[in-house]
Amino acid sequence: MATRTDTAAAVRESWNQHIIPAAMPYYKDPLVLVEGSGSFVTDADGREYLDFFCGILTTAVGHCHPDVVERVRDQVGRLGHVSTLYLNEPQVSAARRLAGIAPGRLQKTFFTNSGTEAVETAIMLARMFTGRDQIIALRYGYSGRSALGTTLTAMSGWTPLGSSASWVKHAIAPYSYRSSLVGSPTELAELFAKDVEEVILTMTNGRPAAFFAETILGAGGYIVPPPGYFQRVAEIIRKHGGLFIADEVQAGFGRTGEKWFGIEHWGVEPDIMVMAKAIASGFPVGATITRDEIAASWKGKTISTFGGNPISMAAMDATLEVMEREDVPGRSASLGRALRAGLEALAGRHPWIGEVRGMGLMQALELVEDPRTREPSPAKAAALLEAAREEGLLIGTGGLFGHVIRIAPQMLLSESELEEGLARLSRAAGKVK
Ligand code: PMP
Repeated sequence: MATRTDTAAAVRESWNQHIIPAAMPYYKDPLVLVEGSGSFVTDADGREYLDFFCGILTTAVGHCHPDVVERVRDQVGRLGHVSTLYLNEPQVSAARRLAGIAPGRLQKTFFTNSGTEAVETAIMLARMFTGRDQIIALRYGYSGRSALGTTLTAMSGWTPLGSSASWVKHAIAPYSYRSSLVGSPTELAELFAKDVEEVILTMTNGRPAAFFAETILGAGGYIVPPPGYFQRVAEIIRKHGGLFIADEVQAGFGRTGEKWFGIEHWGVEPDIMVMAKAIASGFPVGATITRDEIAASWKGKTISTFGGNPISMAAMDATLEVMEREDVPGRSASLGRALRAGLEALAGRHPWIGEVRGMGLMQALELVEDPRTREPSPAKAAALLEAAREEGLLIGTGGLFGHVIRIAPQMLLSESELEEGLARLSRAAGKVK
């Protein structure tokens, strides 16, 4: 009889034989996961791990939440697919729920299957509505794997083929820890925002269609722009006749604490907002939401065969229902304070933790060789990732050099699970040389 260890080895072997090694898994010996429940996952060897990265911030109300499982089971047995040619009730229910928590006048949604497609839809909408083509994005941004997604992305490791659109230009990132600009957070916000205007005036035809940004730059290493930054950028882009697009793929759905969406912390009502990941607990949903007159500007035909399909929509509807019932923004705020305090204490013990940053349950550690030179340390990040695994804790990496540790547990986790995760992280950090 095959043991579970044989199964893990067989999965690794088949992966090597049949999967294009493009999206590379974590760890020298990749983890084969077979089960998940709440804050925990189990591997093929029967080992349990506390999951503090949630499949990249996606299983945001925990693995296999019973309400989501039940709704999906019911829907699969009832009606699985209709395409965009016919209406289905789970889709309008999910869209109504989303409109209920989205900021301001954002009421109309187009559903796709991934964050990449949601980004594509947002850019198409902005270009159709304004009749312009120039887009300003941010350096250190990540926007997906399509031709446009990799063009908006501004980290060389993620863009092996370079850019495909000359109408996308990048402003400097609001990355205070690594910026050559100096000043108080308020001064930096103004300086970073001014760069957006300079890009508009010097690198475009002066007629931008939109400014596009993640509210917290996720893959870039949870870069949190200083207070006031997005307000100033919104003023600038609107002064020049462009739209403001917020990418909430990572920061959305209560993750940042108190608010449903990251951009709300900056008091900006975006013209278009892009979401995916946490929206449906791992079912493939990308969503692009906007207000009526922008939605009405769509020209020509479009279709997403799987977009808004009843199964994914049932998962989304159930996920949002759980999030509302459990007040995930409130939970993220209070648990996020405890997580942050634990990480600050850890940084106090390890000088190679150069900065702790983030909001709510989206926190990062930027690892450096030396706190004075701030030289990035991908080696320490790789060592901490492996050591955490040994301690039974899953975390993520990020940043331009893979030198940032990303921590984002599911938002319904208990206080004791949070404490346990911090204890495991602390033991793992003790092993890093
Ligand atoms: N935007 C952001 C901010 C993301 O983090 C990602 C994925 N990491 C995407 C867009 C693309 O999403 P997907 O991988 O679902 O296509």
